Amino acid sequence: MHPKQRIVILGGGTAGWMAANLMATKWAHLDFDITLIEAPDIGIIGVGEGSTPPLKGFMDTIGAQESEWMADCNATYKVGISFKNWSTKPGFSRYFHPFLAQPDEFTAPAFFHNSFLRRKGIDLEGHPDHFFLASHLAEHKLAPVVPEHFPFEINYGYHFDSALLGKFLGRKAATKGVKYRQAKVVDVALDEQGNIAGLHTEQGETIRADLYVDCTGFRAQLIQQALKVPFRSYAENLFNDAAVVLQTEQRPEIACQTVSTALKYGWAWAIPLTSRIGNGYVYSSSFCDADHAETELRAHLGLLEADVQARHLKMKVGRVEQHWAKNCLAVGLSQGFVEPLEATALDMVQETVARFIEAFEKGGFTDTHRDDYNRRISSRFEAVRDYIVCHYRVNSRTDTDYWLENARNEKVSASLRSILHAWVSGQNITDELQRQKLDIYFPNVSWNCLLAGYGIYPTQAQLKPGNALANKYKTADIHEFIRRCALNFKPHREQLSA
Ligand SMILES: Cc1cc2nc3c(=O)[nH]c(=O)nc-3n(C[C@H](O)[C@H](O)[C@H](O)COP(=O)(O)OP(=O)(O)OC[C@H]3O[C@@H](n4cnc5c(N)ncnc54)[C@H](O)[C@@H]3O)c2cc1C
Repeated sequence: MHPKQRIVILGGGTAGWMAANLMATKWAHLDFDITLIEAPDIGIIGVGEGSTPPLKGFMDTIGAQESEWMADCNATYKVGISFKNWSTKPGFSRYFHPFLAQPDEFTAPAFFHNSFLRRKGIDLEGHPDHFFLASHLAEHKLAPVVPEHFPFEINYGYHFDSALLGKFLGRKAATKGVKYRQAKVVDVALDEQGNIAGLHTEQGETIRADLYVDCTGFRAQLIQQALKVPFRSYAENLFNDAAVVLQTEQRPEIACQTVSTALKYGWAWAIPLTSRIGNGYVYSSSFCDADHAETELRAHLGLLEADVQARHLKMKVGRVEQHWAKNCLAVGLSQGFVEPLEATALDMVQETVARFIEAFEKGGFTDTHRDDYNRRISSRFEAVRDYIVCHYRVNSRTDTDYWLENARNEKVSASLRSILHAWVSGQNITDELQRQKLDIYFPNVSWNCLLAGYGIYPTQAQLKPGNALANKYKTADIHEFIRRCALNFKPHREQLSA
């Protein structure tokens, strides 16, 4: 029997509460002592309102039913992300990045076939939006919820109010025995081996634990400030380092997609909740100042004259060299951040904690597997980074130096370079993704949708008609198949009020 572990989680943002719930659930039989500490006067970042599909797995794991948590958090369903104005190629000014559904297994081969041959100069429909069920659900504002015993599965994510999600997860954690304290940590004591020996609070108390989980957000109070684990910046790959955020009213019909619109110096998100729409502009402060960004966002939303308060944020993009160092695990913004274009941060939180639990247990509650673990999480960061960088590298906008410099940026990884080379030289990128083992992070379909969705094909004038074999898939038949598959889905708003 291993000794009882005392775990202190410092920070009560989404990362802290997700870590608390996962640990308390997975280690419920071990009677660990888990305490979450936060300083309310520091506050949470209060953004981060879109997810990827694995959040459903997290909620299922901790035993949170949709009927329980979604209403509490003003949550909506999300079937993917619509990208607008990232490409200037005719016919490709927007595309949809879908979360996958089982019927896509029948239609994706047609997309791959057409897209592959179009790259080789044959005039076939190569826009991804024609081939996936989620694109249809997004266009028609249908909820991705299937009745029990339905013959196929569909992946989806969520949009939610991050402050309310934190509160919900806090209540859930309490039911699992997680203790909660309010205190501000002002100093961190280290022992002779460089482990954390205790946290000194503003009230003069010292809090001790066997394992310290740093969820202090961009402050990274334990992992970076106290343990001095170096931070590897992604600034040369990803230029955006600031955001301005404001909220607008919800419309009668609620969208089930995030919309990401490229603006002059970055991109704006629109995230639909039941109570409001969250909007933000993620931009590079090297190209545009905060006032300018706010004005551009207001103009984009038609709010130049409106009395709506905006909030400005700075972002630190990159990752720590070790996520687990000494007796400290960093989770959330303290471990790093890849900008929010694909809403991957909470997925990273989940993965960081879930893999830690496995590694820690496998090593008999020691750090035996720490190095393997750190390599694995860092690879995930790099894989997500490259998928995001690709959106900038292949853009074809010429309206500002920001977009031109992104398109010219040669500081991309060898991995991304190989994928792009495979695409433009007409190779099968599925093979390249498998060779690099990258399809476990973003699936093959995601990469193909991105590159096809930007219209990275020969120009229309270069395309030639194909023979019968090339034309074996009929777009009209695929549309009809998808339309029929979608017949059983309810309007999003109706599903949310059910
Ligand atoms: C512009 C922007 C948009 C984003 N959009 C998305 C998105 O769509 N999807 C997504 O998944 N993610 C998104 N993210 C990321 C997401 O916001 C974060 O991953 C998530 O909110 C987790 O934050 P956190 O818990 O790590 O940090 P925080 O929310 O900053 O929480 C930090 C906590 O630490 C506590 N704390 C700090 N120092 C001390 C101390 N000394 N003593 C005691 N307590 C302390 C604070 O009180 C607070 O409770 C976005 C981020 C940004 C910047």
